[in-house]
Amino acid sequence: MTTPSHSHQAGDLLFLKRLNRSAILNLVRRSPGMTRADIATQARLTKATVGSGVQKLLEAEWIVEGELQKSNGGRPGRALHLNEQRHALLGAEVGVHGLRLVACSLAGHIIHQQQMRLVPTAPEATAVLLAEQLRELLSHPEVAHRCCLGLGVAVPGPIAPSQPLLRRAPNLGWRDVPFLELLRTHLPDLDGLWLMDNEAKAAAFGELYFRTGNVPTSLAYVSAGTGIGSGVVENGHDPLITRGVQGLAGEIGHTILQPGGLYCHCGNRGCAETLVSGWSIRAALGIGEEESLVEALQSRQHDPDVEMTLRRAGEALGTLLLNLHHTMNPSEIVLGGSLVQLGPLLLSPALDYFEANQNRLLGTTQQVKLKILDDSTFVAARGAAAQVLARVIHGSVDIP
Ligand SMILES: [Zn+2]
Repeated sequence: MTTPSHSHQAGDLLFLKRLNRSAILNLVRRSPGMTRADIATQARLTKATVGSGVQKLLEAEWIVEGELQKSNGGRPGRALHLNEQRHALLGAEVGVHGLRLVACSLAGHIIHQQQMRLVPTAPEATAVLLAEQLRELLSHPEVAHRCCLGLGVAVPGPIAPSQPLLRRAPNLGWRDVPFLELLRTHLPDLDGLWLMDNEAKAAAFGELYFRTGNVPTSLAYVSAGTGIGSGVVENGHDPLITRGVQGLAGEIGHTILQPGGLYCHCGNRGCAETLVSGWSIRAALGIGEEESLVEALQSRQHDPDVEMTLRRAGEALGTLLLNLHHTMNPSEIVLGGSLVQLGPLLLSPALDYFEANQNRLLGTTQQVKLKILDDSTFVAARGAAAQVLARVIHGSVDIP
């Protein structure tokens, strides 16, 4: 048994200062323009503690001082904002049909973005291509001079809960891939924090984490692309993603909507993806992987086969939204993914069904907030970048 030593106490003190700094940083992040006095009130810290914490964050260039703010009674104080010029957060999404990359500022603004189309290939070849793209991103003039805090990678499948292992990406045909390890061998000199997460979970996280002002209590992101997935995040000081014991929570594409129906890429029959997913719509309408689904359907909007396939897919999407509402009951649902671009033929039946049935159980009239993203190309990549920031602010590593 050890007795408390001086170094232990010094460690505790350092820990406390770190906690205070993380609390201050989080308040400035969520409510830009706060003064030191506002922070002291909200975080229940003394003015002296806030003063020294803010000083440290100013010196390390995490925050900047802005305009003079009037205050009630006391002396006016300087507004505090995140420093948008100093750091970069990198995010990348490995999609079934392409790579998408962003460099973000601390507030989640995209400094630079790039993408490349890709036909599904092996993990190793994908890692080589992503490493090349990341090197290009890092050398961009808007990014190169910044301090890079780390890299988040979003992938289309469930992640093992205790290690960065992609368990399965059924639409890529990948199984148990340590993708970050593969990538690191091609980018050995990229410092900072590295992490990997499921694309819908990353997107959900970013949609909530980069919000300012009125942040929803919980948010579900539905990613409707080649496959269908979802992520649910509960807000808090350090927002929490619902994962489940095997990382399967949110895999709504593999919930069964049609027992005994068509075979899914996962091996089961009648999964939601057999009715509504990029791959099942392609299969139903004979559109190859090398073509863009949205472009291929643009000229076929009045084709009865297209109308029927998209209506059925839309109804299945509406069912998924309703099931998500009744199983997770998030305060806001955000719908993104490439299928959104298929427009009213797909979305109208989905939204009509969801709107008409969501309040039957409780008999209320208030509709759940549903936000549809017309362009969600970089949402998962940006979300993975948000996870890097969260890990730096709330994690055990010191704020650099
Ligand atoms: Zn399935």
